[in-house]
Amino acid sequence: METWRTICAMPLVELCKRLGNGQLSSVEITGAYLASIGAQNSSLNAYVDVYDQEALAQAKASDARRRAGQALSPLDGIPMAVKDNILVKDRRCTCASRMLQDFIAPYDATVIGRLRTAGMVLLGKLNMDEFAMGSSTQTSLYGPVRNPWDLKRSAGGSSGGSGATVAAGMAPCALGSDTGGSVLQPASHCGVVGVRPAYGTVSRYGLVAFASSLDQIGPLCKSAYDAALVMNVIAGADSKDATSREDLAVDFLAEMNNPVSLEGRIFGLPRECWEPESGLSPVVFHGLTEALSRWQSLGARLVRVSLPSLTRAAWAYDLLSSAQAASNLARYDGVRYGHRSGDYRNLGEMYRHSRGEGFGPEVKRRLILGAAVLEGGNSPVSYAGAQRIRKALFREASDVLESCDGLLMPVVPTLARSLEGKEDSVPSLCRGDRFGVPAGLTGLPAVSLPCAQDRSGLPMGMGLMGKRENLPRLLAMAYAYERAFPMAEGTRPHDLGWKGGERHEA
Ligand code: GLN
Repeated sequence: METWRTICAMPLVELCKRLGNGQLSSVEITGAYLASIGAQNSSLNAYVDVYDQEALAQAKASDARRRAGQALSPLDGIPMAVKDNILVKDRRCTCASRMLQDFIAPYDATVIGRLRTAGMVLLGKLNMDEFAMGSSTQTSLYGPVRNPWDLKRSAGGSSGGSGATVAAGMAPCALGSDTGGSVLQPASHCGVVGVRPAYGTVSRYGLVAFASSLDQIGPLCKSAYDAALVMNVIAGADSKDATSREDLAVDFLAEMNNPVSLEGRIFGLPRECWEPESGLSPVVFHGLTEALSRWQSLGARLVRVSLPSLTRAAWAYDLLSSAQAASNLARYDGVRYGHRSGDYRNLGEMYRHSRGEGFGPEVKRRLILGAAVLEGGNSPVSYAGAQRIRKALFREASDVLESCDGLLMPVVPTLARSLEGKEDSVPSLCRGDRFGVPAGLTGLPAVSLPCAQDRSGLPMGMGLMGKRENLPRLLAMAYAYERAFPMAEGTRPHDLGWKGGERHEA
């Protein structure tokens, strides 16, 4: 029996292979991950609930199916974990908020149903920023998730638990949600691959809504290949989410098994993110420009392009997401959903006290901003004005993508922030989000791919964005890069010895 460290270092595709040829059982794999969680979670704070008994029971059932020749999919028996804003029937779904601390989900989210149909094993729920609002998990009821590369730093957010869990080998893959960068940003800070699928690719039924015109579920994995495996399970139309589309649910592995070359491919570099005034920190600028030369060494052609609306994207995102949050979070009133205060004399007071006690300061700030935006009128912070920027950005990106295979851009302008010392102000947090929001605003798919490390080994992701129907191609191009340039080994405190881009045939 291999130790948990060996098993938890393996990419998902390797686990599938060993399950398939009988070298490992689901009980062995699941047991290894539970041991890894037991050894590491108290220092990382990534899991908020671990379903150990049920996970082992699911693993046993999977092994029985496999023995009987009835495996439900190549991923039957593979464990995974999900962000705590995705409903799992009869389990807590807290969104890391006091408001939902006691909320038990009455049904499974569609993605959970799909994981079950594929035979996957659910390890538990992952920490996040409260209601997915934040970039460092510091707004979480449970406190911040620590970065496996440097425990003094944040894992990013809002899907920080998902990033840290995969980076530390506490699950081979995890689901997060991305409204304005919440899968891409923690993936970048944790040195894992994060995917924000095009809007409509994955059903949001059973995902607690933040901003409905932006929310999308996406996987975080050790490699682009692993991400394609998970996308094949979770993508697809769902009658319970009218925005979901079948045409985007293609075979994400098709281009992987027939590897693409980067030779002659054209990538646009939006000048708004690469020029000095874009505010990239020197270490990120240095790391990612070196990565760009590696893309060139594989034959990629880099061309300067411009997306003028990018400079106002974070502003538009703030307005639109806050307005939609103000509407979506109205349901938490202590009557229909959520915490009810014990201290009130009349109905009005009950609403006020319940919401006042249930929501943390960052959620309140957004609800107040959102309510002001929804008041409308001719104020400079109009919803319509933000929508115009959103549309312009979509047009600009679509035009540029007519003559490019993809856009390469930074995911975050800085390294993962320190959890020591004073907290960042809200405006500085927003500045940090500006490269994470374009995919959400345009609805286009994006991948965060580990492409560089600073001298101490801290990872940095490169964002790769493409046309709506091109996620399989983006993943295949990311796979081509990560195979040629795997991450350095041996540089992280929780070193498990895996590196991105190892070649594994499924
Ligand atoms: N950091 C962004 C915010 O706080 C993104 C959040 C998200 O994508 N859920 O709004």
